[in-house]
Amino acid sequence: MSVASLGADPLLGTAEISVSFEFFPPKTEKMEETLWAAIRRLEPLAPRFVSVTYGAGGSTRERTHATVARIVKETSLKPAAHLTCVAATRAEIDDIIRAYYEAGVRHIVALRGDPPEGVGASYCPHPGGYANAAELTAGIKRIADFEVSVSAYPERHPESPSVEADIDMLAAKVDAGASRAITQFFFDNAHFYRYVDKVRARGIDIPIVPGILPVVNFRQAAAFATRCGTSVPAWLADRFEGLEDDAETRKLIAAAFAAEQVFDLVNHGVKDFHFYTMNRADLVYAICRLLGIKPKPAA
Ligand code: FAD
Repeated sequence: MSVASLGADPLLGTAEISVSFEFFPPKTEKMEETLWAAIRRLEPLAPRFVSVTYGAGGSTRERTHATVARIVKETSLKPAAHLTCVAATRAEIDDIIRAYYEAGVRHIVALRGDPPEGVGASYCPHPGGYANAAELTAGIKRIADFEVSVSAYPERHPESPSVEADIDMLAAKVDAGASRAITQFFFDNAHFYRYVDKVRARGIDIPIVPGILPVVNFRQAAAFATRCGTSVPAWLADRFEGLEDDAETRKLIAAAFAAEQVFDLVNHGVKDFHFYTMNRADLVYAICRLLGIKPKPAA
């Protein structure tokens, strides 16, 4: 890890860093308040875009739409709506895409999604639906000239036989019109560097934006990582060991680790970051400040 030595500005010459933030649609009024407090706190950092996830099995169709539409109406932010192929016909998905266009949304994160039975069950496309994220991307582009972002997996998608098979899928998504890939979160940057080298060797030149998960609750993050194929380095587990009842120290360690992770990425030439905010602003706000991003005055 080559964090700059004390005294030097670790971000010298990296003024063009840009960030995006991911939120999930709230289930309750209380969660809605938390989400909107986070959106309001992060808005002045002028992210490139903010995205709102789509619940497993299409379970948050209305809530995702309502959140995205409110962001269009009430903020200066550019929202991207996540959309999956799960449990819907092409006609149903196409209606959702058109409704986003009518609501003023111009960016979709196109995903296949997980089987309705949950991660680990085998995926069976809906009869009459889009079979995968590449087909969905092509479908979105047929409807209107949306910006389309897609997923990428530095450590291999759990269903995929190899990283190479994942990169074939990424190539198909790019051929269908995707112009950005956002990665699954990872804790060991070496996986990201190896992955990007392979993607570039395959001739894919769209931005591959690292997805960064600030680790506030290590246990939860580790369980989540196991489900989506992200490895948890022993040294990271070691840093959080014994701190289960010490939220304050955990938060400081999380901030220090996130800073190490993003500075190392910056030192390797990365300029775009996507933060999985979990609808909490504090840590992400602090990391953005460390990246040199300051609040812009309201327009
Ligand atoms: P694809 O890109 O279509 O496929 C991913 C990989 O899986 C492929 O590279 C391929 O190698 C392998 N694969 C796919 N299908 C098969 C198959 N049938 N047989 C063998 N291998 C196969 N999920 C949600 O429900 N809602 C969200 O909002 C959401 N947002 C996400 C955002 C990001 C940035 C990321 C990285 C993931 C997100 N997910 C979300 C999770 C995603 O839906 C799952 O990882 C899902 O299993 C794959 O969807 P995908 O679009 O990545 O699939």
